[in-house]
Amino acid sequence: MTLTAEPSTPESSLSKSAADEAALSKSSLSKSSLTESALLDSVPGLLYIGGEWVASESKATLTVSEPATGEVLKHIADASPTDGLRALDAAAASADEWAATAPRMRGEYLRSAFDLLQQRKDQFALLMTLEMGKPLSEAAGEVAYGSEFLRWFSEEAVRISGRYGQNPEGTGQIVVSQRPVGPSYLITPWNFPLAMATRKIAPALAAGCTVVVKPAELTPLTTLFVAKLFEEVGLPAGVLNVITTSRASDVSAPIIADPRLRKLSFTGSTSVGKVLIKQAASNVLRTSMELGGNAPFIVFGDADLDKAVEGALAAKFRNIGQACTAANRFIVHSSVAAEFGHRLTDRVNGFVIGRGTETGVTIGPLINDRAVDKADDLVQDAIARGANLLTGGHRSLRAGSFYEPTVITNVQPESTILREEIFGPVLSIVEFDNEDEAVAMANDTEYGLVSYVFTENLARGQRMIEKLDTGMMGLNVGVISNAAAPFGGVKQSGLGREGGAEGIHEYLSTKYTLIPN
Ligand code: NAP
Repeated sequence: MTLTAEPSTPESSLSKSAADEAALSKSSLSKSSLTESALLDSVPGLLYIGGEWVASESKATLTVSEPATGEVLKHIADASPTDGLRALDAAAASADEWAATAPRMRGEYLRSAFDLLQQRKDQFALLMTLEMGKPLSEAAGEVAYGSEFLRWFSEEAVRISGRYGQNPEGTGQIVVSQRPVGPSYLITPWNFPLAMATRKIAPALAAGCTVVVKPAELTPLTTLFVAKLFEEVGLPAGVLNVITTSRASDVSAPIIADPRLRKLSFTGSTSVGKVLIKQAASNVLRTSMELGGNAPFIVFGDADLDKAVEGALAAKFRNIGQACTAANRFIVHSSVAAEFGHRLTDRVNGFVIGRGTETGVTIGPLINDRAVDKADDLVQDAIARGANLLTGGHRSLRAGSFYEPTVITNVQPESTILREEIFGPVLSIVEFDNEDEAVAMANDTEYGLVSYVFTENLARGQRMIEKLDTGMMGLNVGVISNAAAPFGGVKQSGLGREGGAEGIHEYLSTKYTLIPN
């Protein structure tokens, strides 16, 4: 069995049948057929600009390492500011032709990329486990989630609509249409290497925008592997360009300042997002900002505790706690707090720490040692201020960037852990006595990405939808992400929405035309 699956093309996927789909899934690689080195060799280590794989003009390279072992995975091209502008040249040169490409055709390229990604799902999962550290089963989950954006937006490409109606005076017709915004710059973080890329690339391409993508320095390989998919399905040169760099700020600033760029979409920390919003202001760029979170997870006294424990484990420990949607503050009614803490601790003590490729591992490494130090600082600060440690509370004895899964209770209000994104496997519990107090605690943050509420009282659940200042909410569930739903936050968690019917509008501008009678 070879590593490279046959590419599907937009034309071939038009006639794809259920039998074809079954054959596709049968031909997908089994894990045992993948060797890590063969996989890494098949990932291009170059910049993808104007449909070609090219070295950096400076010939510089950067090194990608595995967080679980510290070993080098690959040396890849390190783009300079000149390379960044070359990528924008390519996106600008192909913008008109791509905008004029039939929506059905744009959708078929996305659909073909989806099909090819399904054939390579094991490869994508292994690649993410290697460069980011999450356990293989979670990487497989991200492949399912991340690839879905390609399919969803292949379907949305043909649903871009407008309206037509008489003006109130009866003197003319109002025509409202949608046009692609234009060349877009997409910057992604390291924590979900596939999904954060496809969540931006798919709606942009569906809308008729050409793009330059800059993945995080720590996890660039998955995005290069995505570019290879699009190359193989025949996406026209220049529509998708990928630059990998160790100089994010130096490379991005000239692109953002260039008047040919019309859109900036960023996922990452709130602090970097604020810098980019300021840079985008000089050309009044359209921006989408998916920023940090500090999610409250409220457990009311009437909650089903079995459901709440399952939800808590998923909301906290998925991705080793390194998710913008990770529950950061467990706000638990005092009548159930002790029971909730003990049940969680039992489960957490059963977690297996290790390299994500190892069988049975449930907790991989953090992205680097800095992240381990930060998690530990937050835990020690909380304990020093009076929190009780139920389990964990220190670095793992294993070599690598590992932190023991941790549960702390009785966290005091002034503790830093309640203010900052933990981004690690640390679950911190505070108690409340009445509903208003829970709401006030939950909203006491500058962030507003997601909240989780566990209650068996429907009326209370509905009140929480109105009262919690977050862009998203999980009611009796700990994982909410779905390609068909609008993902995004309020307050300092961001601007705009990705996914759902809303996602494509981030890459469209509304045009109004008056036609007099
Ligand atoms: P980050 O440090 O803000 O980096 C995000 C991306 O921005 C990376 O590609 C980074 O490149 C780049 N970057 C950094 N400084 C830049 C600058 N001055 N100009 C242009 N680009 C710049 O965030 P991270 O540590 O990768 O990711 C974690 C954060 O992302 C957390 O706060 C998390 O909550 C947030 N996040 C939010 C969502 C959401 O949907 N709301 C989803 C996932 C993650 P380098 O890698 O080269 O530094």
